Amino acid sequence: MRILVTGGAGFIGSHVCDRLIADGHHVIAMDNFITGSRNNIAHLIGHPQFEFIECDIIESCWVQGPLDAVLNLASPASPVGYLDHPIETMLAGSHGTHNALELARRKGARFLQASTSEVYGDPLEHPQRESYWGNVNPIGVRSVYDEAKRFAEALTMAYHRKFGVATRIARIFNTYGPRMDIGDGRVVPNFVAQAVRNQPLTVYGDGSATRAFCYVSDLVDGLLRLLWSDEVMPVNIGSPHEMTILEFAQAVKAAAGPECASEIVFYQPRQERIADDPQRRQPDITRACTLLGWAPKVSLEEGLRKTIDYFRALVQQPA
Ligand code: NAD
Ligand code: UDP
Repeated sequence: MRILVTGGAGFIGSHVCDRLIADGHHVIAMDNFITGSRNNIAHLIGHPQFEFIECDIIESCWVQGPLDAVLNLASPASPVGYLDHPIETMLAGSHGTHNALELARRKGARFLQASTSEVYGDPLEHPQRESYWGNVNPIGVRSVYDEAKRFAEALTMAYHRKFGVATRIARIFNTYGPRMDIGDGRVVPNFVAQAVRNQPLTVYGDGSATRAFCYVSDLVDGLLRLLWSDEVMPVNIGSPHEMTILEFAQAVKAAAGPECASEIVFYQPRQERIADDPQRRQPDITRACTLLGWAPKVSLEEGLRKTIDYFRALVQQPA
């Protein structure tokens, strides 16, 4: 099949490209590098099943020839990324998603929207089921991301209802692995980079906020199962293994091995960074299990080992 991946030079997008090529498909990746990197797709350049189009999907999203599927992953995704690029984030979710949906409609392609656990905001229901409508501050600093993704979901459903486009909505929870941007400020690259550099691991606040971390190969498997399924309504894709950020810091330190001299410190970042920080987050993945036969397989220890190996090699490279 011929498949477009917007945001294909990003962390998750580049792994999606790898997996689709391994499955025998022809992949067209589209990206404007606002938060992604050429390094993530360097190994694919020149591959006969791979094409790359440098393009901002807010401006246009078009490819020549037939298309079987569009996976719309293009959006800044880390809190630092969307705080630095608030307008671009809102426009990626709105104009960008509109352009990608219009392309899918015209080509008769199926369409998968990368949504997020952030549509639940700082959730009052725990764990979060897809039926929960969420608790989002519509004017808070995180709203540029949360509301853009909520708009993108609504637009995706409108394209399904009005035009019959075969749409899918994946609500992705915290995902980690190689090719995360070391400087994007998310907790995984922060802690792992700090651990491999023997610097203190910076736990924000008292470390009692919770998250559940899914390794990227599991996440990609869930996304593709959803893409090829018939399920139109949103599906949570993420690990149900909830832990506090303090426990996560301890897990990273342990996975980095006895040579890791990092201490765990409690740190107060700028207020903007932690405003509306969700206090508890854990997906209910019953729908993914029953509809897609999906559940994560990679343990946190194994996933962290692979991620640490990647970041260790990265920081050892000459500048
Ligand atoms: P990322 O920043 O590594 O990847 C996003 C990619 O989209 C980047 O390469 C960026 O340059 C590109 N992009 C952004 N705006 C664009 C535009 N207007 N035109 C073209 N390209 C554009 O982030 P990621 O973690 O790989 O996230 C991928 C998708 O998954 C995003 O839509 C994100 O919202 C969603 N998601 C990720 C997570 C996670 O834990 N990583 C969790 C929930 C949802
Ligand atoms: N966090 C932390 N130390 C860091 C970076 C993040 O304690 O160096 C916390 C952050 O406050 C949040 C959690 O880790 O409670 C996850 O943050 P991240 O930025 O990875 O993404 P989020 O899940 O909030 O989108």
